[in-house]
This record gives sequence, C-alpha cells and structure tokens, in this order.
Amino acid sequence: MGSAQAHAASARGEGPSVIVSRNPATGEILGEVSVMGPVEVRDAVQRAREAQAAWGKLAACERARRLLAFRDEILKRTNEVAELLSKEGGKTKLEAVSMEILLVADLTTYFAKRAEKILAPKRIPLHLLKHKKSYLHYTPRGVIGIIAPWNFPLSIPMGDTVMALIAGNAVVLKPSEVTPLIALKMKELFDACGMPKDLLQVVTGRGETGAALIDAGVDKIVFTGSVVTGRKVAAACGERLIPYTLELGGKAPAIVCADADLERTANALVWGAFGNSGQVCCSVERVYAHETIYDELVQKVVAKTRSLRQGNPLSFDTDVGAMAWDRQVSIVEDRIRTAVSAGARALAGGSRMEGPGLFFPPTVLVDVRQDMDVMRQEIFGPVMPIMKVRSEEDAIRLANDSHLGLVGYVFTKDRTKGARIAERVECGTVMINDVLFSFGVPETPWIGIKQSGLGFTHSDDGLREMCLKRHVNVDRFSTARELWWYPYSEKTYKIVTSAMGFLFRPRKHA
Ligand code: NDP
Repeated sequence: MGSAQAHAASARGEGPSVIVSRNPATGEILGEVSVMGPVEVRDAVQRAREAQAAWGKLAACERARRLLAFRDEILKRTNEVAELLSKEGGKTKLEAVSMEILLVADLTTYFAKRAEKILAPKRIPLHLLKHKKSYLHYTPRGVIGIIAPWNFPLSIPMGDTVMALIAGNAVVLKPSEVTPLIALKMKELFDACGMPKDLLQVVTGRGETGAALIDAGVDKIVFTGSVVTGRKVAAACGERLIPYTLELGGKAPAIVCADADLERTANALVWGAFGNSGQVCCSVERVYAHETIYDELVQKVVAKTRSLRQGNPLSFDTDVGAMAWDRQVSIVEDRIRTAVSAGARALAGGSRMEGPGLFFPPTVLVDVRQDMDVMRQEIFGPVMPIMKVRSEEDAIRLANDSHLGLVGYVFTKDRTKGARIAERVECGTVMINDVLFSFGVPETPWIGIKQSGLGFTHSDDGLREMCLKRHVNVDRFSTARELWWYPYSEKTYKIVTSAMGFLFRPRKHA
C-alpha cells in the first residue's frame, strides 16, 4: 500500500496506525485513537512498574481511600460517562448507569471498606505440629495487564482495575478496539482526582496490542473475551509462565419448570435475553420450557418482546439500543439464518432493521432443536430460542450438553427443588428465579467452568488473587533440634513409627 493509500485507509480506521471510534446507532465519528505497538506497550508497562513501587508500599486503607476519590470523580460525572458509554457502545443510558457505573461504584465501595481485612495475613491452624505457626501473607504482584471486551467497556475492566489497584498493583489496560474512548475517559478521571500519574496506563490498539501486552513483562493477565482469543492468551501466558485469569464466552440455559411463576419468568427472560442487545456473556441464550407451560410461556414472551421499544439509546423511552459493532450483527444474522433454514420460526424480530445504525430487533425463535448452532454456539445478540422439553430431567441434560458453563438459570416456585436442579447445572453460577444481576455483586465469585474460563474474578478470594500469596511458617519454641533433623538413629525411627501407630491407628467401625 502506498503512503497516500495508507493515510486514507488509516483515516478510515482500517490502517495500522489509527482506530476510529463510531457511534453504532448513527455512524457518527466520536474520535480516534492510535494503535500502539510493542515498544509503546513495553514503555507503558515500565512506567506503571515505576509508579507501583510507591503505591504498593501504601497501607491498603490508604489505597482504598484514594480509590474512593476515583469513584467520587466518576459519580460526579455520571451523566457525561453514561452518555459516552451509550454513544460508543449503543446501550441505553439507563443500562450505562445501572449495568456499568453503578457496578463500579458499588464494587469500589465494597472493596475499599474491606480490603485491609481481606488482605490481612491469614492464619492457617496446623492440625498436628502445634509448635509451629503458619500464615498466608499477601503482597502486590506488580503490574497487572487487563485485556477487555467491548460489551461492558466500563464495568468489566474497571472492576478488575479497582481490585488490582486496591491490592497494591499498577494496571495496564488494553480496551477493545470497538470501545477505546471510554477507557481513555476513565484514565482522564483517574488522573483528574490526583491518583499517581502512571499507575493506570491505557494502551489502545487491536489484538496485536493485546498480544504485545502479554509479552511486555506484566506479572499477571486478566483477560475477558471470546474462547478463541482466550486460548491464544492462555498459550502466550503459558509460554511466559505468567499467571492468568480467563473470563470467556457463555451459552446460558434457562430451565423453566412446570410450576414456574410465568409472569415473572417471562419478564426475566425478556430482560435477560435482550438487555444490552443480548451482548452479555450471561445472556439467556437458550430456554428449555416444560411442555405443560410451553405455550403460555411462549405467548407471554412474544407479547412482551414485541412491546419493547427500540431506537435512540440516548432517549429515556428506549428499551433496546443498538448493537455495538457490525461484526456481531453479522454473527447474529448468520445464526438466525441457519436456524430458520433448518426449521426454526421467528415469532418476533428475525432480521436486522433497515436504515442507518446497527439495530437488530429482539428475536424469539421456536421450533429449535438442540443440534442447531443457535442452541450450541454463543450468539451474543438479541435472540432467545425456546425449546419444549418433556421433563425437568430432560431440561437438565440439555442444559449440560454444552462446551460452555458460565451461568445458568432455573425458574420454579419450589425453591428447594430449584436449588436441587441448580446444583446439577454445570455452570459457574446458577440463579434461581432471576437473571444476569450477580455479576454486579462484588462479594460473589464470577467463575466460568468448562470452556467459559479459568480462574475467577470478584469476591474476597478474587481480591487475594490479585496478590502474591506467601506461606510463612514460624517455629514457636526453638528447641536445639527437631526430631526429624540429623543425626538419624534407630531410636528416632522407633519414635516416629510408634507416633504414626498412635496417630493413624485404625478406627473400629460399628
Ligand atoms: P475478543 O476475544 O475478540 O477480544 C477480547 C479482547 O482481546 C479485546 O480487547 C481484543 O482486542 C483482545 N485481543 C484480540 N486478540 C488478542 C490476542 N491475540 N492477544 C491478546 N488480546 C487479544 O472478544 P470480544 O471483545 O468480541 O468480546 C466478546 C466475548 O467476550 C464473548 O465471547 C463474551 O461471552 C465474552 N465475555 C465474557 C465475559 C465473562 O465474564 N466471562 C464478560 C464479557 C464478555 P480487539 O477488540 O481490539 O481486537
């Protein structure tokens, strides 16, 4: 490509050196950012490391106090941040506040109040060697690399960022190429409230920039994104022996039992499938409804879906905004087309809206089968396939027939039965009679099992994961020697074996 062409391509956001951020609802250009290469990324990691040296030495309560100032800065500018989230990601302004800003404010408050206690040394009572004392000691890892997706460009990376920082680390954040401006806005607010200048770095770019971050000497990677990229990240981290956390795709099943409260269930499914235009890792992606309530449930879901108002994400009268980028719209179209050609029927929605903007109407599919892609592969868009099942056993079996295991849902009025079913659903989180919200609860872990992830975020243990864990053991009495030290002798042998005979003597079974 000649230099004039390169410049033109670059100006269109296709070239190697610049990314153009656009409003998916209007096509309007919102700004552009540079694509950072390996040298700039390494430089950012180095500057973060220098800033971390002093930050990591502060007491956890002082770090917490300063992060609360960051929270307050975000809250002070809620409307401005919500508007940018809405413009860059296509979500409604209410979703920007309730699914993004609120979550970060609450998570920051939760960990700021408790970090000192959570990160305090933790005693490990020893069952046998009572003359020794063991405890775990938590220290910052150094620089945490955070690689983020575009669907929640604030709550996902900023939640991880706040946890990493409270634990005493610096952060280098690589946002998605689809939503770089919101990450830069966070950096602006971070610096505006007097945080150490280089402690949070944002490196903008495409996948190559994420790969460069893994290669830039960071001490841990926290990755959220697709299974396909997750595998590459795991391989790159494995090659460098860097610890990593992977939060990957989902295919959340919803089991609707014969005794479910159908009004609540239908409301929950519609919000759970179409909130944020279905671009949620824990979106309701497939429904297994008991045959006795199937018709009534479908009728309710379809009626509620048809009544959703889709349009300008900035309007308070809009329920469903735009999808974030064209690639995802194409995936959704493809999933629906394939399903319909194999016999599925769309009772609401079904094809993208004409005109400017990436609007895809909420779609309800029936006559689906478990072997269809729409029931097996992640859709990540506003599509709810509903399948009739003969029994709850069938529903559990089909729910577990998946390579993914992030979140699952059970609807029933019998909470005891619901819990029994939930415990058999192979997902990191299973909710009974509710959807989506638990990502927003900072004290519960966010875990993907099967191919939905490795490791976890959130929760007190998640904060400790941001630290290096060291086991310290103290000898409490300091006698001249331990029994098992030199010199060895027959006498020691007899003491050890008779002690073993006493400690591990066979129990009499009744
Ligand atoms: P991707 O995997 O495409 O991208 C995720 C991030 O990784 C982006 O910042 C991307 O950059 C970057 N990246 C791409 N290639 C590489 C590479 N080789 N090395 C390092 N980084 C790289 O996912 P999406 O952004 O499309 O996000 C959607 C996916 O995320 C869905 O599968 C969804 O289920 C999942 N997700 C999971 C969540 C969970 O908590 N389990 C939560 C939210 C989403 P760029 O975008 O610039 O290419």
